[in-house]
Amino acid sequence: MSTTLLGIADDRALGGSVRVIVTRPADLIKAKAAVDKVLEAIDLAASRFRQDSELSRLNSVPEREVVVSPLLAQAIGAALRGAELTGGAVDPTIGSAVRLAGYDSDFAGVPADGAELHLVAERIPGWRAIRFDAHSRSVVVPRGVEIDLGATAKALASDLAATAAIKAIAGGGVLVSLGGDIAVAGEAPAEGWLIQTSEDSGAAIAEGEETISITTGGIATSSTTVRRWTRGGVVLHHIIDPATGLPANSCWRTASVVAATCVDANIASTAAIVMGQSAVSWLEANRLPARLVDLEGNVHRVARWPERAANSDRLPKVL
Ligand code: ADP
Ligand code: MG
Repeated sequence: MSTTLLGIADDRALGGSVRVIVTRPADLIKAKAAVDKVLEAIDLAASRFRQDSELSRLNSVPEREVVVSPLLAQAIGAALRGAELTGGAVDPTIGSAVRLAGYDSDFAGVPADGAELHLVAERIPGWRAIRFDAHSRSVVVPRGVEIDLGATAKALASDLAATAAIKAIAGGGVLVSLGGDIAVAGEAPAEGWLIQTSEDSGAAIAEGEETISITTGGIATSSTTVRRWTRGGVVLHHIIDPATGLPANSCWRTASVVAATCVDANIASTAAIVMGQSAVSWLEANRLPARLVDLEGNVHRVARWPERAANSDRLPKVL
């Protein structure tokens, strides 16, 4: 059986890995350049780790009305939509909670161990406190609120990068993976885009691993097993329960979701970790196929998670 020849570029950006795949290898340089442009723009607009980002400047002027760039407005709009769709399980006002839990720089700069933190359970300010007008792009951040777009901006970057790449190459197909937050655009390869499921986007592509195939939309994975650290012997991680402001005490350690866009997939994967057991009925009601891994490592497939792809050990795949 013939294997589709794809063009693949690997790189790093936004504190994680970047993989761009095109169905016509000759398109790779153009596609990668279009992706890079989007990633730079997102980093400058929405990073909470850069003092010079538009988001950092916005967070530093509470109570003031600021007209933000179209890109930051899109990212804030996506985050607020996520909050609405998930009943606030996904909420961009977790900024100070995730920082106080110890995630206060690019993950590479977060020490694996450290002294005990005295964290107090306290409901986060809540997304309704943000005043945002999508039309005029005006935002008012209340005092004491730090907006964090970590859950949606990376997924939005995947969606926008895939769209920008397909425009740049006019035809063919493209896949963009930002640390496992994946968007595809254009024409998929004959066998679909083969995606190996994993709890860790840094894992190796291997034979025999569960692999699914998608042709449109996106997939995202949220996990408490990778971005985690220890303070005073207590294990902490990066997904915050808005009800307590503390790392979520979930029955799931990893959630992967397939959706119409990577943003929707990521909203649902983050929400699934926060919601815990009640995520199952929420995912089913919203027809969001999901693969949930519980604390013992058992896999639960809900809402018609795709069947394993046939012949999936033919490379290339992405995680
Ligand atoms: P990953 O970064 O592994 O793709 P997610 O997409 O779930 O995982 O994003 C997690 C990031 O989102 C955290 O690092 C933090 O910046 C932010 N975050 C954490 N908890 C929440 C939450 N309840 N709602 C919205 N954003 C969150
Ligand atoms: Mg994500």
